[in-house]
Amino acid sequence: MNHLGFELTRVLIGSFDFTCCEGCQLQLANKEATLPEFLALVDIRNFREISSERLDDYDIALVEGSITRSDEIERLKAIRARAKVLVAFGTCACFGGVNSLKNRIPQEELVREVYDGKVIETMPSMRIGDIVQVDLSIPGCPVSKDEVERIMVGLVTRSAATLPKYPVCVECKQQLNTCLFDLGEICLGPITRAGCDAVCPTGKTACLGCRGPAEDINYPSFVQLVKDKELSAADMREKLSLYNGFGGYLDQEN
Ligand code: SF4
Ligand code: SF4
Ligand code: SF4
Repeated sequence: MNHLGFELTRVLIGSFDFTCCEGCQLQLANKEATLPEFLALVDIRNFREISSERLDDYDIALVEGSITRSDEIERLKAIRARAKVLVAFGTCACFGGVNSLKNRIPQEELVREVYDGKVIETMPSMRIGDIVQVDLSIPGCPVSKDEVERIMVGLVTRSAATLPKYPVCVECKQQLNTCLFDLGEICLGPITRAGCDAVCPTGKTACLGCRGPAEDINYPSFVQLVKDKELSAADMREKLSLYNGFGGYLDQEN
């Protein structure tokens, strides 16, 4: 019996996309170096991007994307009813992701501007956890292939696989990067959950918080840092709201 309470030998997997770019599913499909070993662990029952199978007997459902239409709600509930473990797969699923930018304006206005007033059913972007119970969340835009594999191995070997609790700064410092704050940029690394190897600051681009908040973050201290560096509070808020992962912290300021 594993830590989530069910027996597994070769994991039966279903992977499903909702409103998103499908980049997280592609991450799995593209990892050629370890794909054979990964496929030896899993039995793909339903995964539109890599298999023609459309079977409904899966143990684990990887659910990618956010929810923006009523038919997606019904489909998601059916997947939840069949799966033993439902994983919110990627930032869109965990937090709403970039799709949540549409929530900033009335949906009628969005339909008028984007779809030229055509009849389109769309509603504010919702997280998977707003609709059904989520057992595991794997954030990232896109997800880290190594992290997904580690978590899957954890499920198969009945050991708990957890996300890093510490922030991106830890991984950034391990790579001896110059801090972007010292170069006059706001970087969300001090408050964002690690696990991506600080890929953005290592490439001289600020962390935009796609993996959501790290645990026990000192948000007031982060805000103070931005003030002390005389950087723009509006820029900070824009970055914090991009992936919709810091909503609770932004609300604290209101
Ligand atoms: S989290 Fe990012 S990469 Fe994954 S589906 Fe959403 S937009 Fe695409
Ligand atoms: S660049 Fe960003 S992630 Fe790196 S140390 Fe500075 S604040 Fe942290
Ligand atoms: S550095 Fe930040 S924005 Fe970039 S991948 Fe990591 S968590 Fe996401």
